[in-house]
Amino acid sequence: MGFGEFERIAQIRKKTKTNARVLLGIGDDAAVIRIAGRKDLLFTTDMLIENQHFRLKDATAYEIGRKALAVNVSDIAAMGGVPTEAVVAVGLPRRLTARFVDQLYSGIQDLARRFHVNLVGGDTNLSERLVLSVAMIGEVERGKALRRSGARVGDYVMVSGKLGGSYASRKHLNFIPRVREARYLTKNFHVHAMMDISDGLASDSKRLAEESGVGILIEENRVPVSRAAKTVFHALTDGEDFELLFTLSEKEARRAAKRFHIIGRVVPRAQGVKLLMKDGSRTLLEGGFEHFK
Ligand code: ADP
Ligand code: MG
Repeated sequence: MGFGEFERIAQIRKKTKTNARVLLGIGDDAAVIRIAGRKDLLFTTDMLIENQHFRLKDATAYEIGRKALAVNVSDIAAMGGVPTEAVVAVGLPRRLTARFVDQLYSGIQDLARRFHVNLVGGDTNLSERLVLSVAMIGEVERGKALRRSGARVGDYVMVSGKLGGSYASRKHLNFIPRVREARYLTKNFHVHAMMDISDGLASDSKRLAEESGVGILIEENRVPVSRAAKTVFHALTDGEDFELLFTLSEKEARRAAKRFHIIGRVVPRAQGVKLLMKDGSRTLLEGGFEHFK
């Protein structure tokens, strides 16, 4: 981030037209495509670049491979679906050994096996820096994909786990994509809006609010802070949590609160996206996460 990524995407999005097959295109965690049968197809891609998303001195080959797949699984989960197939394109520097590549693929394969994802293709190139680009498809019951855009005023805002400190704790490498939680939610609740938290709660709650045309008020007191994060500020801004951020009606939120954390409310758009501080004052939620800024 930090190079106007959001503006670039908005620009691309405006210029892109699709036909009726595409129920949901650019702008969510994954695209939703209408195919024959009882399921809709989910389609997503995510890329990891050496020194931008990971450093070889901080992460093992296994962890890098695992993460490349896991971030895509997380985006499929964020739509309420299950991942099914992936293709993996790699750019490999000459300096890397056969053993390194072997470990990289152990990480990829282990994560794939755990989530029943078939690895069905890819591409291999020489590259200055190590690059992994994964495209993944998944499926969800027809018409049931969970978007960022469905939050309603009065909803409760919830998250699936503790936030922050993901780099310090290495959770950004070892996280478990929340497929099980997402499926539990789709089967037992009417989730109004959902996304995964990749940039940090502050930044991603703004994105969800924007897509839904609402405001959000997060309560400082309620944000679940991971041990590695230490402060609420870090929980709000660190990023790479890969937890689910979603909204439910008040009634359903009370039921879901046994397993998930209520962190705030959906409010009218005019109220903006703000943090309700412990002293009762409100402050704008600023400062998303920028990779190695
Ligand atoms: P996420 O954090 O869930 O991976 P991103 O912030 O990377 O999402 O992207 C936001 C949305 O923009 C997604 O729907 C993604 O598919 C889309 N997007 C990002 N980059 C491009 C691009 N270069 N061309 C078309 N769509 C893009
Ligand atoms: Mg996402």
